[in-house]
Amino acid sequence: MSSAIRREQIAKYFGRVTEPIPSKRIMDGAGKAILRDEYGRVRHFYTGAARGDYTDDTILTLALAQSIAEVRGINIDDIAKKQLQAYEACRLPSGKVAGGFGGTTRAGFENLRKGISPLKSGVTGGPGNAPAMKMAPVGMYIDATGGYEEGLNYAEQIGRITHLDPRSIASGVVQAHAIYALLNGVSRQEFLDSLAGTCARWEKPATPEFQLAKSGSLTSRISWIRNNKDATTEAAYGRIGSTSVVMESYPFAIFMLQKYWENPLEGLIETVNFGGDCDTTGAIYGALSGAKNGLCFPDEWLKLVPSLELMVEDADMIHGLKHVK
Ligand SMILES: [Mg+2]
Repeated sequence: MSSAIRREQIAKYFGRVTEPIPSKRIMDGAGKAILRDEYGRVRHFYTGAARGDYTDDTILTLALAQSIAEVRGINIDDIAKKQLQAYEACRLPSGKVAGGFGGTTRAGFENLRKGISPLKSGVTGGPGNAPAMKMAPVGMYIDATGGYEEGLNYAEQIGRITHLDPRSIASGVVQAHAIYALLNGVSRQEFLDSLAGTCARWEKPATPEFQLAKSGSLTSRISWIRNNKDATTEAAYGRIGSTSVVMESYPFAIFMLQKYWENPLEGLIETVNFGGDCDTTGAIYGALSGAKNGLCFPDEWLKLVPSLELMVEDADMIHGLKHVK
């Protein structure tokens, strides 16, 4: 999503975040919302969220998982339908859609709403990270069925339902691969090598249609991580950033996952406190960490998550696909 709270703003208004907290409207002394401070805009997304509530990343991941579990396979029309339903379920009486969906995702879903085919609904918006943030269930599908190339092709098609920027599409494919690789117990070096290779293979270069792709490739960022895996987080943040453009938030989550390979909880906390598109860097980090470590975060946190049982049910169903193929 397009939210971006600067790390300095997290520190100023929240201190260090070390556990789930409810959302908070940031007010001045007179009870008026602060919309700008010395660090820039102060965004007010999803101000009604309780502890443990999740945003667009997990909403769309769940819709994708539910489709794979119900269809017992991958069907692009059904995935588009369930994604649109999940999006519409967030619509408020005012007509606005809560959940923090990014502009490109919203435009793609509006096309689906008009009846445009999911093969043609995607738009060339800012290079958003939605394909990466929701693609974990496809990595699980690949693991269950063994259909590696088939699964990566599906990841590309699922990304294209909303996003046409080559870097956004590549991020979804790389994330499907990453989840599959972690479920199979790769080493840290194998993980980084295979991500760089997968990204280079799938990321299309800049074309006249995608001039924006000249502003930085995903492959160059992921290769940087492979070559600088022990860099300080500060150095990685300086090189990569953590905003909602996919060349920042996605590689930042990857850097943190591999940096905190043996300390997933510490890595998650650190990731979120670096701000930027931190619901998304946190969600992607969490999905990767889950594939590597299982349910490794504190029980008290898990108890806060709405629909956790449904998530586990869908995950079990996808895992069980290996028995029906
Ligand atoms: Mg986000």
